[in-house]
Amino acid sequence: MRCTPAPRLSRHTAVLAALLVACTTRGLHVDPPPRAAASSPGQRAGGPEPQQAGGQAPDAPPGAVLDEAEAEDDLLFEAEAERPRVHPLDGYDATRLREAVQNDLGSLGSISLGAPSAGALLNGVRAEDGPLFKLQNPSGAFATQETLDYLCAAIRRVQSEFPGTPALALGHISAKEGGPLSPHISHQAGRDVDISFYYRDSSPWYSRGTKQNLDLPRTWAFVRALVIETDVDMILIDHSIQTLLEAYALSAGENAEWVRSLFHGGAGGMRRIIRHAPGHATHLHIRFFNPVAQETGRRVAPILHELGLRKAPPSFIRYRARRGDTLGKIAKRFHTTVPALKSANGLRTSKIRENRSYRIPVGPKKGPAISPPLRFPPRRIPPEPAAQPARMSARDTP
Ligand SMILES: [Zn+2]
Repeated sequence: MRCTPAPRLSRHTAVLAALLVACTTRGLHVDPPPRAAASSPGQRAGGPEPQQAGGQAPDAPPGAVLDEAEAEDDLLFEAEAERPRVHPLDGYDATRLREAVQNDLGSLGSISLGAPSAGALLNGVRAEDGPLFKLQNPSGAFATQETLDYLCAAIRRVQSEFPGTPALALGHISAKEGGPLSPHISHQAGRDVDISFYYRDSSPWYSRGTKQNLDLPRTWAFVRALVIETDVDMILIDHSIQTLLEAYALSAGENAEWVRSLFHGGAGGMRRIIRHAPGHATHLHIRFFNPVAQETGRRVAPILHELGLRKAPPSFIRYRARRGDTLGKIAKRFHTTVPALKSANGLRTSKIRENRSYRIPVGPKKGPAISPPLRFPPRRIPPEPAAQPARMSARDTP
């Protein structure tokens, strides 16, 4: 994939421009065999997920990649939230929008529907191999245009700072139309990206990042570019690698308070952007906000349901498995099916574990026909944007 250079834009024009700055493709395809998502069960299992109700965060089911953040609500950015932004469909009245949904859905651009763990993707775009990244799972590499543009912008920034930067390995984004993508729970709405770290050697995809093999200058430059140049929601990275990255950023002269806010949160309820989740010592999991595609989704969802083009998104409750439970028994108890339970929990087999918490689909989500406009936090720019920190070159990394 080759991306057209993006001009520097203000926050508001950037939203509109996101539709225009296309990542042009070169049509090169390499179709490697699908890879296992983790090399051992221990890498994927475990870890809390944000809970709907109070109480202890449940464990993940075995075999599922719980690519959700630690117990921290995705939408907890009240302290930072800004006004709803301008949107390409602002000039559309109800009739025009309905007509477009019915007759020319493609004209509405990429649409991210619902939540990353219970959503869908319409008019998705497939990432293509190129100098920025190499696909590991082509059938699961569909994204919104915004997600691809953000990803390209951040990688391009790293490559311009560090000549000779190799392509990253790109894992799952979403399936063609989103929805469940085994073995993940999220990755459903075109906004979640699994991608490699930069390594100092030729470590293959899904190599565990260590002090010895990680290219910290480039990996930090990537994280920094995601924060500054895109509407990143969160980046999941294992604690052990966070420690290395944070220390590197500080040693490179980054503003300490800004760095702290990214890794630990800041004053006034500012949320962490970089978070730990088990299974993320082998890759980065990036979730982007999509101010355009999510807002389009919010506007068209009721029309899609009304026209019967799309079912209302599912909703889930949590159930902790007891001794003697099987997926079949749980399915019967909650009037659902074994395949539905496996899909909801990213399970590859029917094995379940006592005392683990599972998501149970309980029918379509109920709520108002149209929810209020979405709000997105402003980008978290370091206080002295003009001062370029003195970075060590990749060769100088200790
Ligand atoms: Zn992921």
